[in-house]
Amino acid sequence: MSSIFLPPPIQLINSEIALKAGVQLSVLRLDLMHPSVNGNKWFKLKYNILEAKAQKLSTLLTFGGAFSNHIYATAAAGKLFDFRTIGMIRGEETLPLNPTLQFALEQGMQLVYLDRQTYGQRHTQELQEDLKQRFGEVYIIPEGGGNSLGVRGCLEIIPQTANFDTVCLACGTGTTAAGITLSLHPHQKAIAFPVLKGGEFLNAEIDRLLNHYLPSGSFAPWQLVCDYHFGGYAKVNQDLLRFCQNFALEHHIPLDYVYTGKMFYGVMDLIQRGFFPPGEKLLLIHTGGLQGNVGMEAQLLKKTFKFSNS
Ligand SMILES: *Cc1c(COP(=O)(O)O)cnc(C)c1O
Repeated sequence: MSSIFLPPPIQLINSEIALKAGVQLSVLRLDLMHPSVNGNKWFKLKYNILEAKAQKLSTLLTFGGAFSNHIYATAAAGKLFDFRTIGMIRGEETLPLNPTLQFALEQGMQLVYLDRQTYGQRHTQELQEDLKQRFGEVYIIPEGGGNSLGVRGCLEIIPQTANFDTVCLACGTGTTAAGITLSLHPHQKAIAFPVLKGGEFLNAEIDRLLNHYLPSGSFAPWQLVCDYHFGGYAKVNQDLLRFCQNFALEHHIPLDYVYTGKMFYGVMDLIQRGFFPPGEKLLLIHTGGLQGNVGMEAQLLKKTFKFSNS
């Protein structure tokens, strides 16, 4: 099943800022593995899909917001691997559908909307039983693919051949950060950048995921850098937008505004502040998410338009 995917290339970045700081910068391009099932979301889905097959379940049911990369990837993976898919979407239906949900629908995903209160119950046994009553025998994948099978897939993200001291990645649920940390050598280190406000809670969450996976606690060091959330999940400002545009122009690497843009911004800022010692080799994980830019840019345009009209 992995043969459908291209091995992610590692791209060396020629950056003046990094050069000046004596830091080597490379990017692992998970965004290039597949046109639609890409980024870290594929790794989080992989063992869930294998488990669904092992349990002989032919329907995947999962949860996400209206712009969710996970919904997008699950819909595409379902089509690719012959599963029926059901997406439980947070909030009310908005028509016309945004590009994310339109794509999911085109892949054959059934979209079902949950009001925010019910959506809040998504982890409860009760709601999951309800859903099985309603949709039959389904394999339930938690929001974002954030379970221990998701962690397991993320152990496979970094290729054996990669040569680096510190890996940097954007962080939502912490599942990817946990899997990547588990795959490191003891002399390496992970830095995770939460993209939501108050990301400090992820310290406990990542700890939990790590210890669940490896109770001995013998994994490489890791840390959170919580200063680059830009006001919260999916919040952006001019500074971030400009950074992403410039980065794409200069290095020919497109970034998404929700995850990778914030992490790359954070890393470049930390380099400028002398956070990393000279000689340090950094590997930045491009976790994908570019599909979300289309909907995001449309929304930003609408806002600018409203703004200039008022
Ligand atoms: C979901 C996502 C993340 C965050 O992954 P977690 O495992 O939830 O921390 C990072 N980058 C992109 C592009 C994503 O879609």
